[in-house]
Amino acid sequence: MPKKNHTGMTFDKLIEHYFNIAADKINLNPEYLTFLKNPYRELQVQIPVRMDTGKLQIFLGYRVQHNAARGPYKGGIRFHPRVDLHDVRALASLMTWKSALVDVPFGGAKGGVACNPKKMSKEELQKVSRSFINKMDLVIGPHRDIPAPDVGTNEQIMAWMMDQYGIKHGHTPAIVTGKPVVLGGSPERQGATGRGVMYTALAAIKDMGMEPEQVSVAIHGFGNVGQFAAKLLQDEGCKIVAVGDSAGAVYNPKGLNLNDLIKHKQKNGSTVMGFSNGKDISNEELLALNCDVLIPASLEGIIDERNAPNVKAKVIVEGANGPLTLEGDRILEENGVIVIPDILANAGGVIVSYFEWVMNLQEFSWESKEINRELYKRLDKSYKEMVKVAKKENVSNRIAAFMIAISRVAEATHMRGI
Ligand code: NAD
Repeated sequence: MPKKNHTGMTFDKLIEHYFNIAADKINLNPEYLTFLKNPYRELQVQIPVRMDTGKLQIFLGYRVQHNAARGPYKGGIRFHPRVDLHDVRALASLMTWKSALVDVPFGGAKGGVACNPKKMSKEELQKVSRSFINKMDLVIGPHRDIPAPDVGTNEQIMAWMMDQYGIKHGHTPAIVTGKPVVLGGSPERQGATGRGVMYTALAAIKDMGMEPEQVSVAIHGFGNVGQFAAKLLQDEGCKIVAVGDSAGAVYNPKGLNLNDLIKHKQKNGSTVMGFSNGKDISNEELLALNCDVLIPASLEGIIDERNAPNVKAKVIVEGANGPLTLEGDRILEENGVIVIPDILANAGGVIVSYFEWVMNLQEFSWESKEINRELYKRLDKSYKEMVKVAKKENVSNRIAAFMIAISRVAEATHMRGI
């Protein structure tokens, strides 16, 4: 059964909905509609793994290659029990629009394995990672399709994947991004998505006439994206008043001590709950907090029509992909909440992945300062372009972002010929 939110809409249908609105606004050639909306290729594979117990377990793995008009397919690999083809398809198309919006020469793809990495040993995870690459070997390559980390995967998993690909094809660091720096990974890649969230949040704060020191922030999801966004925004002067993870949230109106909180989370079985410098609250309470900026940085479909009316934040910065349902998005728009959409807000990861890929192909490396400067330049330009189109066309930031991205992919498609 496809996974639907409680209003019956799957994630891929939600993205298709935004695509249709934006395509209509730019008068997209009807011949291109179906072609650009749907993925080029979808691959489902079996990943049989002998678990530590000696039992054979078969996991399902997916890779969806959505569009490569502007460059090789590019997108992360998710290890999570909820992974299914609908989600991977939606995430793959978001990658196409994201890469186009921030103007990196990539197309869009996404992959995933339906497994629970939290309950697997390092050995088991390594077997899944290597087997995934063996099964995908036919369709990936440094000029064909380049995976990266996402929820439940990390630089260690990218290292195993690169190594596995190299066994057959020879050393090929450009086959994945998000690798450890020692294996050709980019400095700053690990925190790049959170850094991009910080840059776009600051741009929105500035547009509202506020200074970072006046701003309070709540973050839902305290993993890679959430933690880096929290730390970097705090460094800029913002007050991080609440963060939440899958177990619950913690709140301190005076601001949380993030270094202590991260240590607490590591010590306490991956939860922020029970932190002595804050009060435990539920994730629903976090979403309804009286704060300026709310950053959903966990999973899709978190803000829906049941909790959107309670949101008091002035700005939502979508660290996660697809954190708002259709109804949630509509309610926030009606209530005048500014939304910085995922395809811009969390594009820092793909931008620095692009730098990593270029460095690998050139067998050269850049310094952190250069990487962060270039990341800022690209996001700042894309933010300004999005806001300009939104104002000119009187549409939401999300539709403006899709309009820009679809136009670019359509133009590349036109020039190549379908
Ligand atoms: P992660 O696995 O490192 O962290 C996810 C966090 O969300 C964890 O703290 C987890 O406890 C929390 N979480 C999960 N389910 C939750 C729930 N129901 N309620 C509250 N918290 C919950 O993953 P990540 O890499 O930080 O990715 C987070 C989001 O950002 C995903 O949507 C991902 O697709 C998107 N994203 C990630 C990157 C990247 O570079 N990592 C790039 C672009 C987009």
